[in-house]
Amino acid sequence: MENPGKIKKLKPGTKRVDEFAFQVGKTEPFIDSFKAFLKASFTLLVACECLICGRPVSDANCDGGLRICETCWSEIEHKPSPVPYRIKNLEVFYYGFYEERLRDLVLAFKFGKHPGLSKVLAKFLMKVVHEHGIDYDFVTFVPATRTSRRKRGFDHMALVAREFSKVAGKEVFKLLKTARETDQLLANDRREAVRGKFVIEELIPDRIYTVLDSKTVLLIDDVLTSGNTMEECLRILKKGFPKTRFLPLVVAVKR
Ligand SMILES: [Zn+2]
Repeated sequence: MENPGKIKKLKPGTKRVDEFAFQVGKTEPFIDSFKAFLKASFTLLVACECLICGRPVSDANCDGGLRICETCWSEIEHKPSPVPYRIKNLEVFYYGFYEERLRDLVLAFKFGKHPGLSKVLAKFLMKVVHEHGIDYDFVTFVPATRTSRRKRGFDHMALVAREFSKVAGKEVFKLLKTARETDQLLANDRREAVRGKFVIEELIPDRIYTVLDSKTVLLIDDVLTSGNTMEECLRILKKGFPKTRFLPLVVAVKR
């Protein structure tokens, strides 16, 4: 800590956040040792397990809610696919195939209810953007249905989009919303099943339509299976924003 003897006086009416910053500075050594103490006690009481495979994680990888063991990291962190995936008339940028550890990661995030893993997915999407040198202006995402939002407690792609936006420094717009639920297991024809599932979010202010004119927007999702959902989202987006270019980007492709 610089100049520990000097304590800044707070002006009256200073925001609480400044007060907090000041306090953190003052009590830093205490917090650090106390934190270390808590962490050690916690490690003793509750084993720190990898969110993907469940194996114990070394202390160094047990930070920030992103508990991933070294084996899992080495398997999921790689160079993104150098070529886009082609399905139907779509060309979709993607990180890797929906297999093994990458699949486990997506499942741990969505169904294991570990919202912190959105950071990892966002990081992988960012790698794809860099790999292809994708030039874009804004970000949007495929929204979750109301049922899955309720089940998980969060809209998983909204979280990934938010994390992605923090790293990329690009604004996220929620352009789509789900109009109805689709029972994927009962539907014989997936293309029919997703028809009418998405509509343009009606809360979008008029100025956003102007902002998006002649711009490129990344449309992100976690997994691409048949391509029907992506195709339907693009169809709706192109209807709503005819002058905007949308680029589909996913974490994983099911082959
Ligand atoms: Zn693991």
